Amino acid sequence: MKKTVTADEARDILLSLSVQRETETLSLRAARGRVLAENVTASVPMPPFDRSPFDGYAVRWEDTANAAQSLPAVLRIVEELPAGTAPTETVGAGMAAKILTGAPIPAGADSVIKFEETERDGGTVRIFAPLKPCQNVIYRGEELEQGAVLLEQGALLAAPELGMLAAQGRERCAVYKRPTAALFTTGSELTPPGVPLEPGKIYDSNNAMLAAMLEEAGFDCLDLGAVEDDAERIAARLEQALEQADIVITTGGASVGDYDFAHAAVERVGAEVLFRKISMKPGSCVVAAVKGNKHILSLSGNPGAAAVCLLRVAMPYLKRQCGRCDVLPEEIVLPLKEAVRKASPVTRLLRGRLEITDGRAVFAENPRQGNGMIASLRGFELLGEIPAGSPPLEAGTLIKAYRF
Ligand code: AMP
Ligand code: MG
Repeated sequence: MKKTVTADEARDILLSLSVQRETETLSLRAARGRVLAENVTASVPMPPFDRSPFDGYAVRWEDTANAAQSLPAVLRIVEELPAGTAPTETVGAGMAAKILTGAPIPAGADSVIKFEETERDGGTVRIFAPLKPCQNVIYRGEELEQGAVLLEQGALLAAPELGMLAAQGRERCAVYKRPTAALFTTGSELTPPGVPLEPGKIYDSNNAMLAAMLEEAGFDCLDLGAVEDDAERIAARLEQALEQADIVITTGGASVGDYDFAHAAVERVGAEVLFRKISMKPGSCVVAAVKGNKHILSLSGNPGAAAVCLLRVAMPYLKRQCGRCDVLPEEIVLPLKEAVRKASPVTRLLRGRLEITDGRAVFAENPRQGNGMIASLRGFELLGEIPAGSPPLEAGTLIKAYRF
């Protein structure tokens, strides 16, 4: 087993891991943010009948073919159709039906003329110009035909998807149960927020940040706190985490220093190591392992590195664990807004965003890219990737970026 892998290899190894697939049925309101666990086809066409796009008169266009300002077509109004009514009359030659937005086009009629373009005179309407054939009709099935795929299994349910389900008369849908991710941090320097800091200690920021990232990805996150740098205690916490969750995320001690126990803990609980270093910067220190159908990902304690590694390597896998079908980030190519002054012996990942300068999209690096820095993750939308072996790069050099 190769223990040092590239970012893509690491991503693919994680993506190939087994996925838990329990489902539940929820109301549309409760399903927001969840992942659809069924393919949904249109059981009714959208719209379900030919309808009028505005208030006007439904007519036969031939009846207006010779209409002119000086010689209007005069049509007899046979019916009035507000939205929600079903027509009862057929519009024959010389006839019209008053129709309101969303009402069904009555039999016989093939076109609609706006109110504003007509004149009403008692029981008749006057039209002063010819209509084009079949003008102003929204046809049955124009948006979606009956039986067509409405939403695919694995789709994230946000406002449009929920609206589409409701438009089909669905009040409930099958979704994947949220998998559980247990999260604990390691480091004898860590202090939970809310407690005064002792000398040499720092606040645990990974816990709050990663819990949020995991929840956004679709997990229920189980917070198992922080553990000091003690091999036995870390292994014990890992054991507990494996019992309680589908996947376990830890931070700290993922390197090979004297106080780095992530790897030892993984071995101690009898998990199989998948890889333990990724050739990229930041985020190279990581231990990925499996035990049965449970997965362990031990990330660097450096917040910047932990977040970058989670996004670049683990996010597609995390989304797939939650049932998502579209899991890979979009890849785009952009010119660098500013030069990258350092050479990149290994793949370099830059936290950045898309900016427009002189009407062109560019990759703008966020300030404060240090491994331990969190601020560079704010407003972050792109992870720029500079290939291994690159020299310093001029502004304007095209680079690949992953869009999140
Ligand atoms: P480690 O990965 O344990 O070698 O830690 C790398 C750096 O990240 C050290 O400076 C740690 O103090 C810091 N660090 C470790 N864990 C956390 C955490 N949970 N929150 C903030 N910083 C951390
Ligand atoms: Mg440490």
